[in-house]
Amino acid sequence: MSSATAPAAPRTELPGAPQLAYRDGGLHLEEARLEVLAQAYGTPLFVYSKAAMLAALAAYQHGFAGRAVQICYAMKANSSLGVLQVFARAGCGFDIVSGGELARVLAAGGDVGKVIFSGVGKTRAEMRQALTAGIGCFNVESEAELDVLSDVALSMGLTAPVSIRVNPNVDAKTHPYISTGLKGNKFGVAHEDALRIYRHAASLKGLRVVGIDCHIGSQITETTPYLDAMDRVLDLVASMEHAGIAIEHIDFGGGLGINYNQDAPPAADALWRELLAKLDARGYGGKKLMIEPGRSLVGNAGVCLTEVLYLKPGEQKNFCVIDAAMNDLPRPAMYQAFHAIVPLAPRRDIQEATYDVVGPVCESGDWIGRDRTLAVAAGDRLAVLSAGAYCMSMASNYNTRGRAAELLVDGAKVHVIRRRETAADQMRHEQLIQD
Ligand SMILES: *Cc1c(COP(=O)(O)O)cnc(C)c1O
Repeated sequence: MSSATAPAAPRTELPGAPQLAYRDGGLHLEEARLEVLAQAYGTPLFVYSKAAMLAALAAYQHGFAGRAVQICYAMKANSSLGVLQVFARAGCGFDIVSGGELARVLAAGGDVGKVIFSGVGKTRAEMRQALTAGIGCFNVESEAELDVLSDVALSMGLTAPVSIRVNPNVDAKTHPYISTGLKGNKFGVAHEDALRIYRHAASLKGLRVVGIDCHIGSQITETTPYLDAMDRVLDLVASMEHAGIAIEHIDFGGGLGINYNQDAPPAADALWRELLAKLDARGYGGKKLMIEPGRSLVGNAGVCLTEVLYLKPGEQKNFCVIDAAMNDLPRPAMYQAFHAIVPLAPRRDIQEATYDVVGPVCESGDWIGRDRTLAVAAGDRLAVLSAGAYCMSMASNYNTRGRAAELLVDGAKVHVIRRRETAADQMRHEQLIQD
């Protein structure tokens, strides 16, 4: 095969949590040997480290020590019940974007009073559901939504707590599909319209204005966009206070990036040290804060295990066909995203070659990694790293592929938090035509 080189030692610096490491010739997550889990539970298989999630959360808690802050895990990053349970037990609230996510919070034992509801397209039914449950705040994204929410609340004899999502018009310098704080994005209300819209909100009988929020994008690896967004939001808070509109909390959203490859995002505590210094300097240090981190809490706490089905040498490319695909790991197909791919049991007995690592789905977009140097044979198992966020929660059944099983590792303990989906599971809600 082309690009063959002498076998090299397995790479030791893995992008991921420190809970992921090679020991005794095999990749481990906490105390669990991943090869053993893949054998026992089959592949593709997601495995998450509870310690890595709690360590990621602790970085935020450390950064906020002594402050009034509510951390709302943005659960669309990974909404599996076992994952939600870990964060609920650690005292987190949740940032939801649908009625379905609210049902998951309730099923996982989350505190509904610490739930905030984001999203540009909330339905009346979802508003009723959230009001009935008693959620903490609606993060409203348009003037029209304010009117509808007020109507719905009044029809139930309630008032809805609201925050308005302001679009600060700052460039988060990330992939266009996950950049949300620029003028051309569908999210939030324009900075220049915000004061007028707040006045409108304050005039509506079914609403109680409690906060202001922003969220400028995802996989953000620089501090400057956050500082700029904070300045813009605080400018607004100042003019609102001047206009006599009081708010209880400021919500700075989520978006902090993780290391997938050569990314160097600030640590959560370092980022917040800088942001809190600005907050203090501008005189808002005593205000109640909220944040909505998703990816940075779970992304590097999980891996996806997969088996090499075939090696397929080609004239231009060598392909390494694995049993995980774009339906399990949609980020490369959606955003040309990079996930590191490493062997579970590195071997020195075969030569390295360069492969495009692809799945079985019938789409040329179904690739997981391009031009990867691997020493592998059919039957070997690999780990796709940084797979804790926006993988299982985006997984689909395309090609009638059942969704993977999920495990949560806690020290040497292994919890099955989702069993593998069967073909019968997938067909459960379908019916043959009766004639
Ligand atoms: C997706 C989202 C988040 C979380 O973003 P991450 O990049 O995963 O931290 C937070 N707030 C809102 C409104 C979102 O849509």
